[in-house]
Amino acid sequence: MIEGVRVGLYDDPIFREHDSGPGHPERPERLDAVRRGLREAGIDGRLEARKPRPATGAELLRVHREAYLELVESTRGRTFRFDPDTQAGPRSYEAAVLAAGAVVDAVDRVLDGSLDRAFCAVRPPGHHAESGRAMGFCLFNNVAVGAAHALARGLERVLVIDFDVHHGNGTQEIFYSDPRVLYVSSHAFPFYPGTGAAGELGERDGLGFTINLPLPEGCGDAEYGRLYAEVVAPVGRAFDPELVLVSAGFDPHAADPLAGMQVTERGFAAIARACLSTTAGSARGRCVFALEGGYDLDAVAASSSAVVREMLGEEGWPLAGEASPRAADLVGRYRQAFGRFWPVLRD
Ligand code: ZN
Repeated sequence: MIEGVRVGLYDDPIFREHDSGPGHPERPERLDAVRRGLREAGIDGRLEARKPRPATGAELLRVHREAYLELVESTRGRTFRFDPDTQAGPRSYEAAVLAAGAVVDAVDRVLDGSLDRAFCAVRPPGHHAESGRAMGFCLFNNVAVGAAHALARGLERVLVIDFDVHHGNGTQEIFYSDPRVLYVSSHAFPFYPGTGAAGELGERDGLGFTINLPLPEGCGDAEYGRLYAEVVAPVGRAFDPELVLVSAGFDPHAADPLAGMQVTERGFAAIARACLSTTAGSARGRCVFALEGGYDLDAVAASSSAVVREMLGEEGWPLAGEASPRAADLVGRYRQAFGRFWPVLRD
């Protein structure tokens, strides 16, 4: 392990007061599962507990429209349904502002050097939230707010990697024409929310700075391990980001009730290793993970601790290296598809 790597853990009781509605899979116990996983892995004591601060209106307005901000704020103290999946309860606004603020504060601390890395155990999640719309359990786009904050501080290259099983339509929309933010997502396809085809590449100056890796159902450690090692990591390193943000969704897990992937803790460790490897250049190790989905509590516990172990620099948890014709096919297909923007993939 790397001695002295400082990893912050952001959490707050208010995140548990966000009420998605009765019987909803996006529930407060998910955060307790993260904490339990860290405890059971014996690594909670090696993390710096950080209290988030609320994001300011100006910070949220970098990625969200004013009318939308006002709509979310108007849900304070009541229950409001944005769509059939996405609801705010009386304290959800407060939780959402704090969730975005956690990522902003984590970005500030890793850029200032008081932390090397941070894991934000937040609710509500963020990556489906668009500039003007709540959806998919998400109110504010926490990672996008963090990326915009880094840009406002003068950074020119921010990499966002999204391994949630759903496509981060909100993050893609917000930075679709912005070459300063490279968005790389792996996700089930076709699947909710319907976006994320490989042909969605960004537009105008942002062309080539959106990379979607749509995956068929049933992909597991072999497919994810190879795609992250042979597509995501080389593209990420070629971009040479100054900061890496990760939308960490644990719903590709084999036990997840919402999706049909087959990833295990070992696979999430390999994914995290690939994400962290993209910080080797200008980012100088700076990386912030924020919780997105993941709905089986034991899977969330085991997978989040596997990721945090990698963040702490513990010795890698190797993949079994099983041969997978499908993994080889996906890697070949995507290296070819994105090679015209990223020559590193043509080798
Ligand atoms: Zn998800």
